[in-house]
Order: sequence, then structure tokens, then C-alpha cells
Amino acid sequence: MNYQQILEEIYLQSKSLPIIGNIATTIPELANVNPDKFGICLTTIDGKEFSVGDSHEKFSIQSVSKALSVTFAFSHLGEKIWERVGVEPSGNPFNSLVQLEYEKGIPRNPFINAGALVIADMLVSCLENPKEDFLNFIREISGCDTINYNLKVAKSEKDTGFRNAALTNFLKSFGNINNDVDLVLDFYFHQCAIEMTCKELADAFFFFANEGVSKNGKQILTSSQAKRINALMQTCGFYDESGEFTYKVGLPGKSGIGGGIAAVLPKQFSVATWNPRLNEKGNSELGMYALEQLTTKTGMSIF
Ligand code: GLU
Repeated sequence: MNYQQILEEIYLQSKSLPIIGNIATTIPELANVNPDKFGICLTTIDGKEFSVGDSHEKFSIQSVSKALSVTFAFSHLGEKIWERVGVEPSGNPFNSLVQLEYEKGIPRNPFINAGALVIADMLVSCLENPKEDFLNFIREISGCDTINYNLKVAKSEKDTGFRNAALTNFLKSFGNINNDVDLVLDFYFHQCAIEMTCKELADAFFFFANEGVSKNGKQILTSSQAKRINALMQTCGFYDESGEFTYKVGLPGKSGIGGGIAAVLPKQFSVATWNPRLNEKGNSELGMYALEQLTTKTGMSIF
């Protein structure tokens, strides 16, 4: 398969598309980015790498981090994490509060904000130095020591994160947050404020494609656990557009409001795209288009 040629074709095609969407406005600091940045990086299971565009430029990974935080919690705590967070698509926007009321504080899945906040609470409880340990984990799986938190983005989110504060307090009222609300929020705002390139994200997601083993040969999850997180990414990874992404692209993946998407085809490749313009569901329209073209042109998807 000539991946480089396919990525170049997709990149060229994308230039002639109408411009759709705008930069996220919920976190003011995220607006300081050129909306026309666009990159793709794909890493094959045998370690070859292909990229186009701005694939080596760092951006705010935001909710893409949720696939990695649930992985870290799963690897530390095992199956018991599912006692506090579900595995069903929510069909609601990522920051919605409504389902929590009648589901008694058990979020539908770890990829909506409520679920990611419960996972953050678990990590705050079980890690010695939560923020450092999580950052080291991300650095390790991506094989890159320069990955860091963008502290301005974390602060900007803290200054405007009223809904996440409401969610965490609401969860705590149901007994599903064990730590101090501010500690949990601080961890969550930092995990979302990690900056990575498409290349680093493709490398970090490699273990999802490789039965739980990272690009540098470490067993991050068992192959069964990796399958389960892939299943969750497939059904819940794109907010209330998860069905659409599955229909058009057919890969497990996770998006973020920084405009990044990371996706995998198990036993074949991991891939990451970045364009900061979001459609009304909060997903990168261009990233979705690129991945739809990738699975169409290669004829490879999980279906
Ligand atoms: N930090 C963002 C928030 O909680 C993440 C949103 C996202 O990427 O979906 O609002």
C-alpha cells in the first residue's frame, strides 16, 4: 500500500474543499492558533511512518487525552473502573449534565466530560504524583520527552470551566468523586492541555493497533483490554457524532476540540489528523474527511 501517495492525494483534495467550521470558543486560549493548519501522520504496525502538512507541529490534544487517561486508569485498576463509569454511547453533547440526574451519577462512558472527570478522580486517587505520572506515561508511549502541558491553556480552561466544575460537583453529590473537586478539575484541565504533534499522537495510539503493545515494545494494556478501549472509541469517540464517524470512516478513534483526531486500524496502523476548524458537533470536519478518504482509498477499515 502506497500510504505516502494516498496521504498526498488527500492533502491536495482537501485544499479544494469549501472551508467548514470554526475554532473552538469555549476555551479562549485555544483561539490563538492558525485555523488553516492541517496535518496527517500515519504509522504502520511495522513502524513505517508517513506524513503530510503540519504533522510535526504541536497542538492542544484536549479530549483525545481521554482515550489515554482511561487507558492509564484501566491499566492500574482493571475492570473495577466500570463500576463507576459506563460503556454506552451518550447521544448527547460532550459536556451535557442531563443524563447524570437519572443515571444516579454514573456517566454513560469515559469520553464524555462527566466520565473523563470520574476517570480523573480515579487517577488522582491511585497515582503518587498524578500530573507528573500521567505526563510521563504519555511521553513513554509516544517515545517523546518534549511533550508537555500548555499551562496557559490549562489556566484558560480553569478560568472558564464552569460547566466542568458543575459536572464535578454534581458527580460528587452522587458520591462518584472521592477527591477534592478542585484537585480533580486541576488534573482534568491539565490532561486536556497536553500538546502533541500528529506524529506523536499516531505513535502514542500505536498500542491500540498493536494488541496493547506500544511502539517501543511495552505492554500498556492486555490485548483484550486494548480491544475494549477500541470498542469504546468506535461507539463513543466522537461525541454525538460517533455513529456518523463510524458510518463514514469505520475506525475506532477519539477527537478533541483542539481539532485533533487519533484513530487506529487494529493490526494495521495508527493515524492522527489535525485541523482546528470544528463542525457544530465539535469534531474536525477536515480530519473526518481525511480519514473517510483514507479508508475509502485504501479499502481498509474495521468493517
Ligand atoms: N477541555 C475540554 C472541555 O472539557 C475538552 C473538550 C473536548 O475536547 O471535547 O471542555
